[in-house]
Amino acid sequence: MKNLFRRFSVLFFVIILNYASLYSQNIPYTILISFDGFRWDYTSRGITPNFDYIEKNGVKALSLKPSFPSITFPNHISIVTGMYPQNHGVIANTMYDPVTEKLYQLRDTFEVRNPYWYKGEFIWETAKRQGVKTASYFWPGSEMILAYRRPDYYEKYEHDRDYIERINGVVNWLKLPFNERPKFITLYYDLTDSEGHRFGPNSPQVNAAVSKLDSLIGILFNKLDEINMRDSVNIIIVSDHGMTEISSERYVNIEEIADNPNCKFINRGALMNIFIKNKNEVEDVYRKLKQHENHYKVYKPENIPLHYHFNYNHLIGDLFVLAEPGWSVGTNKDKDRMNDYKGGNHGFDNSFIEMHGIFYAIGPSFKKNYKTGTIENINIYPLLCKIMNIKPKQNIDGKLENIEFILKEKE
Ligand code: AMP
Ligand code: ZN
Ligand code: ZN
Repeated sequence: MKNLFRRFSVLFFVIILNYASLYSQNIPYTILISFDGFRWDYTSRGITPNFDYIEKNGVKALSLKPSFPSITFPNHISIVTGMYPQNHGVIANTMYDPVTEKLYQLRDTFEVRNPYWYKGEFIWETAKRQGVKTASYFWPGSEMILAYRRPDYYEKYEHDRDYIERINGVVNWLKLPFNERPKFITLYYDLTDSEGHRFGPNSPQVNAAVSKLDSLIGILFNKLDEINMRDSVNIIIVSDHGMTEISSERYVNIEEIADNPNCKFINRGALMNIFIKNKNEVEDVYRKLKQHENHYKVYKPENIPLHYHFNYNHLIGDLFVLAEPGWSVGTNKDKDRMNDYKGGNHGFDNSFIEMHGIFYAIGPSFKKNYKTGTIENINIYPLLCKIMNIKPKQNIDGKLENIEFILKEKE
């Protein structure tokens, strides 16, 4: 009897394993590429033949609207969680938590890997729970210290890692034996953001960056051809935000106006979070900043316009300052860092078209030669779930119905 039971259990497991393998055989591969700070209109400069190819043979959105604020970490995480920054928790690249008094900064790898800050469910967590393997060649939030919150394969962020080496890493994952091969892979390049900050969006340096990133798409296509996987891989190319020109002449010193030694200023440039220990002083600082409101807006969190979806996270601060596009806000110290206020920046109102990024997609899941209007980046997570045939997390902000029309109809 015992033996019979054992045989049945083995048979049962064999059936389950085969079913799982058959099931994952039908899922296409998807590479999600992010070109940081690649503005929506950079592909209209006549220097991007590989983007033109995708436009003809895949899907192009007019633009990809970032979530607010239009900064790197909040948006990369919105893309892979389907949530607005105030809901997934990463509301800026630099964050101060007034409860724990901890500071989150990109160069502090301990905090960047600390799951405490990340309240959303990443696509790789959703996939892992449902037996689908994933990998990341860099992506904000992919390096958490808890293995179950990370992709199955990942690389620790290294700003200067060779660009071709990154592509080779992705292709090597696709060369793994079938059962170990990830169905979803991310890939990230900072170049357009870095050059955009230094030289501004209209500079020859940004054009060179755009052209270099475009050529990387061609290299990836060729490498997928070499391993006979070009037709079975979806490639989605996005950016987290755009870029607009700034000037050191368009600068407002918020610290001077606030004139209160108890203010803690977090972030600068397009926005600032202000924390004031003594809550009795908030009103006074608010009044002063409101009185001088010129080229910026000051808000109590509950009064931040609803369309920003940025009201109730305690990391926003007691007061929030948002600069007018092209302007910068800062502190007394920033007066000596005026070089930072030249060139380009982002973080501004996400409806401002220069803050918009790109969305291109090509591959077996996508329509061909299909153009659509602006897409919001929170809708990408449900799209990825649909492609991978997995159940998305509930109670997210993105909606499949806002994006699924770009998918090929099933024959
Ligand atoms: P931003 O300040 O919004 O322009 O951020 C862009 C910068 O974020 C890039 O120049 C990168 O150095 C940094 N960055 C991007 N991805 C990561 C990552 N996964 N880990 C740490 N830093 C990153
Ligand atoms: Zn960015
Ligand atoms: Zn940037």
